Amino acid sequence: MTSQCPACGARWENGRTCQDNFYQMLFWENENPANGVVHHLMVLCYHLQHPHLYSEDGLGYALGLLKEMLVEEKSPAEIRNQKRKTVDSGRRNWKVTARPESKGSYRNPVHWSMRAADVVAAGEEQYIEQVKTWARSVYKDLQTAENL
Ligand SMILES: [Zn+2]
Repeated sequence: MTSQCPACGARWENGRTCQDNFYQMLFWENENPANGVVHHLMVLCYHLQHPHLYSEDGLGYALGLLKEMLVEEKSPAEIRNQKRKTVDSGRRNWKVTARPESKGSYRNPVHWSMRAADVVAAGEEQYIEQVKTWARSVYKDLQTAENL
């Protein structure tokens, strides 16, 4: 039985959902801590392809984060330090995660060239490289759809 992800358009072969693939990637990171270097990038890509998991403000924030990590090549630690003042949940007056009245969505539909399932299909050996490739493709696809 094959169905399709309403958010990213992936085909769910044999009932294997995007979330199942997300958990598989987290498992590889837990199992082999070296894989954790791309943790932030992976979580970001997964959520950007499922933007309803973010609030509207959260999605805008995440898009900025992707740009900083890819284009400006900042490390998660640098970004954390720099944003500490503005993003500390106590000081921030908006929420990152979706609420019933605020769910992230894109202006224009996006055709994703790579998804969580593709990263998982390539296997654990390729994991770090695949996540980096995935992130670049997410950025490019968002640009192509004029959502950036
Ligand atoms: Zn999906």
